[in-house]
Amino acid sequence: MTAIPPDGAPERCGTLARREVVAAARAIGVSTDYGSARGLRLVREPAHLACIGLDIHQRRQWLAPAAARAFLRMRSAAADDGIELQVVSAFRSATYQLGIIRRKLERGQAMAEILAVSAAPGYSEHHSGRAVDLTCPGFPALEEAFEHSPAFAWLGKHAEGFGFRLSYPRDNPHGIAYEPWHWCWHARRRPNGSRA
Ligand SMILES: [Zn+2]
Repeated sequence: MTAIPPDGAPERCGTLARREVVAAARAIGVSTDYGSARGLRLVREPAHLACIGLDIHQRRQWLAPAAARAFLRMRSAAADDGIELQVVSAFRSATYQLGIIRRKLERGQAMAEILAVSAAPGYSEHHSGRAVDLTCPGFPALEEAFEHSPAFAWLGKHAEGFGFRLSYPRDNPHGIAYEPWHWCWHARRRPNGSRA
């Protein structure tokens, strides 16, 4: 492990570190065809991260700069409509994801059970710095009940306008459980082909 970068942003995995993490994940039971079977690709981690403030546990959270700007605009627009969007988590590295999986195994969960709700290390959208898990006051974090919240209704109407989309709707082709709280920012293509 190297030192925490001076801006306090969490560490990211480069290509080599990611390869090691994927190998370690296979060694503890992630199948070698995980990516192709789920239609998921290895996710590159961003060179830069920008802080988007504190999450519900008072930890600083981070997104890639363009996603962070879009998120802060969206959160402020929601606030103007009386909706408080609270962050549960945002960027996490493949190394961090491996730690999550290991802890779940230690607690006695089976790998198949774990991979129904967590992406395998290296394959989580959270590695991209574009995905954010959201909640709002009065709703427990990371539970399906969030779909009945005013925040979810607001996101359904407005998130797309800020570039955010629900990644795992019901019955998604990736075999990942329905996650009404998980939103991912997608760069828009400009007419000249560059990415916004
Ligand atoms: Zn998520």
